[in-house]
Amino acid sequence: MSEFAFIDGVLYAEGVALTKIASHYGTPAYVYSRKMIESHWREFDSALGEQEHLVCYAVKANSNIAVLNILAKLGSGFDIVSIGELHRVLKAGGDASKVVFSGVGKREDEMAFSLKQGIKCFNVENANELIRLNEVAAHLNKQAPVSLRVNPDVDANTHPYISTGLKENKFGIAFEQAKEVYLQAKLMSNINIVGVDCHIGSQITKLNPFKDALECILVLIDELKQEDIELHHIDIGGGLGINYQGDEPPARADYVKVITDTLKGRGVEVLMEPGRSIVGNAGVLLTKVEYLNATPYHNFAVVDAAMNDLIRPALYEGWHDIKRVVESSNADAIDYDVVGPICETADFLGKNRTLQLEQGDLLAVCSAGAYGFTMASNYNSRPKVCELMVDGEQIHVIRERETLDDLVFGESLVS
Ligand SMILES: *Cc1c(COP(=O)(O)O)cnc(C)c1O
Repeated sequence: MSEFAFIDGVLYAEGVALTKIASHYGTPAYVYSRKMIESHWREFDSALGEQEHLVCYAVKANSNIAVLNILAKLGSGFDIVSIGELHRVLKAGGDASKVVFSGVGKREDEMAFSLKQGIKCFNVENANELIRLNEVAAHLNKQAPVSLRVNPDVDANTHPYISTGLKENKFGIAFEQAKEVYLQAKLMSNINIVGVDCHIGSQITKLNPFKDALECILVLIDELKQEDIELHHIDIGGGLGINYQGDEPPARADYVKVITDTLKGRGVEVLMEPGRSIVGNAGVLLTKVEYLNATPYHNFAVVDAAMNDLIRPALYEGWHDIKRVVESSNADAIDYDVVGPICETADFLGKNRTLQLEQGDLLAVCSAGAYGFTMASNYNSRPKVCELMVDGEQIHVIRERETLDDLVFGESLVS
């Protein structure tokens, strides 16, 4: 259920009107619902039930420490892709022993810090990374817990930029080489093989790709058994899609069921790394119409949010529903391109949207909780917007709007 709903013609986040948020905190602003974040995480966790499991929220989807803290309190694990994300998890009260570390380019310092913190697992993405990890662990006199990220060559049927499980992608170890790399790992004195991992892409709206990937992994697990390599866990990655534009992703419980059914009787721990599915629909980007501009060819609504705040439309043709915050309007319904002030043609939040607009109107760009703020930049010297967490009737400022001085922080003149 969405906590972003109209009450008496005004869009609310839980118990707070977005009009009130705009007048107190200004626009643009990211607004999240605590209830939705919690209930989405719980749907994964409770569907996994008695099956030994750990839901490792993918930090890169939304890494605000308040979001991480809310999930840490529920007992969440975390999937990280950098030392910076580990720092955030620790700041937020997350448990290092529930952290898995993915990513194709782990540096030595990142490995060493993670080993010292005692993370649960390194998801190793190539044979040279394994060699480096063994050396770093030996230097620290530690055993590095390892899963190999295997690329099952499954087509996730998603946008090419967010597809990761095809053999031409940079991610993971090719399925046909995986066994050989496991055999190498077995011979390394400071590597402790604990599992296997795959992540085939993002915004996946069918169950088959997940089932295909898992079946592929099970074949590998059986082959490894014959080599006396026993795995303690299977990490199925993230990737479950959400509804942006009439998409009908499987329910979280149905997704979990396909995985637990496929694994019946295997006696392994299941890890999953959902990001978007937990936070995507739990956030909106609140923005204000600055200008209406009718050219001979197009009607533009120029808003105060831009591609630097939400890059998904420009980067992967991401589609976000755009709603008036105050439902009724006397303006004519017109097709608008909703664009930001940035000097790039790619700076749009939505095209061809039929909206009734006047200057000063508030809009909510929906489903912006994942890959929104985390991908924001200061391009065009625009301070990053504030982030707010609504919890019932309460509003928490979880990140202040950046100031003009923040923009030049750390810069200096040549002396
Ligand atoms: C991005 C990513 C995820 C999360 O993907 P979602 O589509 O947001 O669920 C999980 N695991 C890895 C390795 C990733 O790179």
